[in-house]
Amino acid sequence: MSNPWRDDFPILKQRVNDERLAYLDNAATSQKPQAVIDTVTHFYEHDNANVHRGVHTLAERSTSRYEEARRKVQQFIHAQRSDEIIFTKGCTDSLNLVTSTYGNQVIHAGDEIVITIMEHHSNLIPWQQLAKQKGAKLKYIDIDENGQLKMDQAARLITDRTKIVAVTHISNVLGTVNPIQQLAAIAHQHHAVIVVDGAQAVAHLPVNVQELGADFYAFSGHKMLSPTGIGVLYGRHNLLAKMTPYQYGGEMIAEVHQQESTWAEPPFRFEAGTQNIAGAIGLGAAIDYLNQVGMDKIQHHEQEMVKDLLPRIVKMPGVTVYGPHDADKHTGVIAFNIDGIHPHDVATALDMDGVAVRAGHHCAQPLMERLGVPATVRASLAFYNDQQDIDQLLAAIQDTKEFFKHGTR
Ligand code: PMP
Repeated sequence: MSNPWRDDFPILKQRVNDERLAYLDNAATSQKPQAVIDTVTHFYEHDNANVHRGVHTLAERSTSRYEEARRKVQQFIHAQRSDEIIFTKGCTDSLNLVTSTYGNQVIHAGDEIVITIMEHHSNLIPWQQLAKQKGAKLKYIDIDENGQLKMDQAARLITDRTKIVAVTHISNVLGTVNPIQQLAAIAHQHHAVIVVDGAQAVAHLPVNVQELGADFYAFSGHKMLSPTGIGVLYGRHNLLAKMTPYQYGGEMIAEVHQQESTWAEPPFRFEAGTQNIAGAIGLGAAIDYLNQVGMDKIQHHEQEMVKDLLPRIVKMPGVTVYGPHDADKHTGVIAFNIDGIHPHDVATALDMDGVAVRAGHHCAQPLMERLGVPATVRASLAFYNDQQDIDQLLAAIQDTKEFFKHGTR
């Protein structure tokens, strides 16, 4: 399971604490290939100008590269039209955009919003607060003992009172892939819309928003090889066209008069002010790179790594792995704890062996409560990880257990 891609990521060439770096914190953020770094540098060295506003050569160049990035996103997630792609600051911003506009418009007292117990706070708190403001009800789909959504419960919870179903495509803790198509079909039967949090999915499997039946699909660039501060909200055109603006200011208007204003068409209605132009162009370069590798190949390679890692970590004495133990139902996000050792201590000890993982509640406190733990360690894979990373992680876990038992490594 070596791979030809690791060398494209300059940051991975360094040593950390005198050890080879095994970067297994990809669910928090991905590393950036040289091609993306070069594209962003090239933009600032050659093309930088504000978009849509100028007629000079640099302004035309940056505008055309920015809009080209939008078309790349459209093709990457198979949206029908490029004006269904809104650039945002990130997944959190995208989800807040949906709640503040669409959510605010359609939710009234007595309505219901259905989410899941495995949501990241950014697909939970906005709905929770909207429900409170409007006197609506927030309902949760639970998980079974394997960390899979209880679909029979979902079918009961989603009713004609439901206006919005909001669900993550892949859990950032359990590594489960949720049956979006099935949930979308149930939501649509009841004339509700489905909002999908794609933060953990877009860089790991091919995404087709039309096949999924997603009405909205949100994700961050930084988890898919791009710079931070750029994200995407996909929305069906007929829904976007009816939505009020998210923020007010330059670039989002049709006409402004002293007492009245009218709005530009989507997506510009939702892109007030100067956007993260370099970020969007970097995202375009990341998509080119991902396409060159091939999303099918990425999914396959990550799956092969999970097939190796999951059974080995599950078998380790004193290690509890959360989520499904069946590799076929699991993506490369693996949350675990070691008996008697605080997850933060585990993460610190692993770092001494060059292994970067995360520890904490992973912005999913209701899920932690449901699992009955305050926090977990989380190792998360990307396609540029390899067999050595997996072996290094497992050896470091063994080292950590011994260190805390005997005080030696
Ligand atoms: N949803 C999920 C499932 C995530 O894992 C994350 C990032 N940890 C987010 C949303 C929020 O992404 P961002 O912080 O980039 O806005």
